[in-house]
Amino acid sequence: MTQAASNERPATGGESSRAGGDLPRVLVLGTGGTIAGVAPAASAATGAGYTAGVLGVDALLAAAPGVERVASLACVQLCNIDSKDAQPESWVQWARAIEDWRARPGVAGCVLTHGSDTLEETAYALDCLLAPGAPVVLTAAMLPAGALSADGPRNLYDAVRVAADPAAARRGVLCVMHGRVHAARDVSKEFAGRVDAFGSGERGPLGFIGSAGLRFTRELPAAPGERPCWRAPAAWPRVELVCSHSGADGALVRALLAQSLQGLLQPPLRALVVLGTGSGTVHRDLQAALDEAAAAGVRVQVVPRHGACQGGEFDGLNAVKVRVQMMLQPPI
Ligand code: ASP
Repeated sequence: MTQAASNERPATGGESSRAGGDLPRVLVLGTGGTIAGVAPAASAATGAGYTAGVLGVDALLAAAPGVERVASLACVQLCNIDSKDAQPESWVQWARAIEDWRARPGVAGCVLTHGSDTLEETAYALDCLLAPGAPVVLTAAMLPAGALSADGPRNLYDAVRVAADPAAARRGVLCVMHGRVHAARDVSKEFAGRVDAFGSGERGPLGFIGSAGLRFTRELPAAPGERPCWRAPAAWPRVELVCSHSGADGALVRALLAQSLQGLLQPPLRALVVLGTGSGTVHRDLQAALDEAAAAGVRVQVVPRHGACQGGEFDGLNAVKVRVQMMLQPPI
């Protein structure tokens, strides 16, 4: 991971410095992803064979003309990675960077550019860790920089507009993609091969951002401040995902449990999130192994394999977000 590099400056040169004084102040944090990806010259137009996390956040801002008229921008490069390689430790580091910025007088909001693959996990972790306040907006891209019709510049431009808008404050962490504004709780990557890759399941987006400006069409089910704000644990516990399916015999669970009980897994297994079939049913052979794990003190939480939990403690969360929340919860 590269060192964080700070650059408080107009995004694209003279124009924004002229207008910058009266504009809302927005910090753009770069972490990598396809939005910062570059394809080999021979496939630059399609983006085939690109490498994620190459360009710096200042280059992303420079490729979004007009953004300097929306906000007075500062940018910080936190890291430049493919988000498939994300680590929970980064959530805490990034939450601190956002908190520091929000504590400054006159700050309107923050944008975090991210890979699309694990955006929903980071968005939800930040949503859990950050107190309500100035807008925090994650954005990404499905096409690398330089590809024909690359979606990154528009998504970044829209994200800055949302972060600069007081109407976006106190709505929890938001995700802006393809003209839609999603709540961190609800958003998930629904399609790997489409530019409109993200959705908010049955609830739908919180709002829209387009030529008519920012429009929220619904409220969050629980307003920030009414839900718990989690503290990051001193050390992240091991919470693993396992899946129920035809022929699921529990071998994986037993292997994990045995390793953990023998002290060969560090950190040891604290909990299992089980992707159940249908509305959360589990193959009887896997269930037997889960019962053994539970008897050994491992927390077992079954969630639906498709979509989000309905009701209860994890209402509205999909499996990867249930895992994030269980990692944040103190041991029972
Ligand atoms: N693998 C990339 C990432 O998550 C995919 C993307 O950004 O769309 O970093």
